[in-house]
Amino acid sequence: MRDIANKYAFVIILIIVSLFSFGLQAKDNKFVLVIDAGHGGKDPGAIGARIKEKNINLGIALKLGALIQANHPDVKVVYTRKKDVFVELQERAAIANRVKADLFISIHTNSAGSKSAYGTETYTLGLARTEENLRVAKRENSVILLEDDFSTRYEGFDPRSTESYIMFEFLQDKHMEQSINFASLIQTQFKRSAGRIDRGVRQAGFLVLRNTGMPSVLIEVGYISNAAEERFLGSEDGQRKMAKSIFNAFCNYKSDFDRKMGRAVVTRNILPGGKGTSKVIAKADKPSIQDVQVESAAPEQKIENVVSSDEGQLVYKIQFMTSPSKYGANSSYYKGLHPVSCYKEGGLYKYTYGESTSKAEIQKKLPGVRKLFKDAFIVTFRNGKKVK
Ligand SMILES: [Zn+2]
Repeated sequence: MRDIANKYAFVIILIIVSLFSFGLQAKDNKFVLVIDAGHGGKDPGAIGARIKEKNINLGIALKLGALIQANHPDVKVVYTRKKDVFVELQERAAIANRVKADLFISIHTNSAGSKSAYGTETYTLGLARTEENLRVAKRENSVILLEDDFSTRYEGFDPRSTESYIMFEFLQDKHMEQSINFASLIQTQFKRSAGRIDRGVRQAGFLVLRNTGMPSVLIEVGYISNAAEERFLGSEDGQRKMAKSIFNAFCNYKSDFDRKMGRAVVTRNILPGGKGTSKVIAKADKPSIQDVQVESAAPEQKIENVVSSDEGQLVYKIQFMTSPSKYGANSSYYKGLHPVSCYKEGGLYKYTYGESTSKAEIQKKLPGVRKLFKDAFIVTFRNGKKVK
């Protein structure tokens, strides 16, 4: 009898423990934002005449986080650091992956040999196509030289060697479009809200962005090597303006995200310390890609292989790849898929395979394409225009 009672007690404890751990694992419905203040501790980042990069980054990061926490009750803010401490580069990305972040913002301050360089840049992950962008990635990635055994941990990646960056050419980043979209919103706000010089949305091979599994951007808030900009970024007022600009961009991005997810947009309309009338959500600006590598001359959403027959009928295709670059008909990037067509949207080239007015027929082809491109999905067109 005693034995049976013990068994029951054991089973009950087991149930309680598993319910508890399930509760811990289940992600609540909050949008998770990771704010990464670059550098810290023994790593000062770029050094100005009066202030160090690590302090500017942290100041803006904390102000941004506070604004978001005060205005978005449905957003959980996670910092990679809240103090002046050293955090390894891999760990910053790992934190974002562990908390299953929806968005990752890394905040940095730029520096250049020329004291006249001035202005803001927002980077997404990609291959740097200019020396200038590559230089920024090299400088930011070089923090791993302060980590023990960096060569093994980063698989032989040498942040100083140009050859190491070739791997970014073959990168498939399924979050590229969202990252570029968010980066554009940030640059627009830097110009509009903070009155900064907009040096555009750019791409380069940043290690911290390579390892994050969500839309991610790396912001260079300005040049510490420029006396006027150093003064601005070192001031409370300057940091507040930069944080507010990123906050506005976040509000735009988040309301778009909520709409796509079919969620109600949750925002408080009053800023802390505001007069009660200021509206948090700035009018969503149409993101403009200013990077020179991304041509945007062609009208958006016009597909190049226009389906001339089947007027008004729905046409289904499989989209398997997105890139800021235009590739030829027989590019090896398609992994043997042929024929491939391409349309342009939001400044990016989107590559599709297959074409049919029968959705079932395209659905049959999807598993085969997914073996090559695991994130492939079906897109629908009518009269050559993508149907949302
Ligand atoms: Zn930095």
